[in-house]
Amino acid sequence: MAAPYPTCYLNGELLPLAEARVSPLDRGFLFADGVYEVVPVHRGRPFRLGAHLQRLHDSLSAIRLPNPHDMHGWAAILERVAQAAGGREMLLYLQVTRGAETGRNHLFPKNPNPTVFAFASPYPAPAGQVLEGGLRAVTLEDIRWARCDIKSIALLGNVLLRDEAAARGADEALLVRDGLLTEGSSSTVFLCIGGTLVTPPNDHRILPGTTRDAVLDLARDWLPIETCEVEARVLKNADEVWVASAGRGVLPVTSIDERPVGQGRPGPLWTEMYHRLQRHLDEIAATPAL
Ligand code: PLP
Repeated sequence: MAAPYPTCYLNGELLPLAEARVSPLDRGFLFADGVYEVVPVHRGRPFRLGAHLQRLHDSLSAIRLPNPHDMHGWAAILERVAQAAGGREMLLYLQVTRGAETGRNHLFPKNPNPTVFAFASPYPAPAGQVLEGGLRAVTLEDIRWARCDIKSIALLGNVLLRDEAAARGADEALLVRDGLLTEGSSSTVFLCIGGTLVTPPNDHRILPGTTRDAVLDLARDWLPIETCEVEARVLKNADEVWVASAGRGVLPVTSIDERPVGQGRPGPLWTEMYHRLQRHLDEIAATPAL
């Protein structure tokens, strides 16, 4: 991720990121007791903001932390951060933790005072070589916890997997649990098999991806879609494999475990999906903002 813009939001205030301070007793720091979101801004518009804020709400409910803001409150905070940054293509990061207390108690505090933090960074547009040559992936055993549907700041499993992928010369890890493909270490995954778009179902094993939903919506009038459990061994039969995330859009995977996917080049269905997504973003940008 590119270096963030210099102004951040912390607990009600905009301030220089370099001056933002959080207590070392914050439960986010001690226990990773918190959740987060990453909202992309394209052509000056937050993309799928409602879905991101709903997922934030669901993550907070799942960790039994009252949502400190309603949807309008969150939208206003993100608008302030985006305005301060001034970019038209960026990523907005926001995080809520259960806050600081006087000791290190596993038990929740009775009246938590959540820490709310947000910052912006420039959108990392995919390098031409990725669009032309695709990503390299490796399959790895999914070592994460059993609630991957919560967008928890406890990302050690994801971080270790991403590092393992990098150590093997790959850009992303495709994760396998009990023989089934789940998702990437920071992305959802799609297979194209005989013209059908296939993706694992939303359940506790994966994060319900906002870009996954966008891809499915954009494919609905074009490709047959199957949302079903996918055995990892099916990957080698796929004509195309894609990964999707708010931070990178939808990208083609052209090799898995050092074997080419299809022709070993970004496929025609990915090319069409990429253009559909770009057109969709142009259309959103052309409609008047509310
Ligand atoms: N799965 C994981 C583990 C992720 O970290 C992410 C995004 O960072 C995704 C899936 C994709 O979700 P979204 O498309 O909402 O960014």
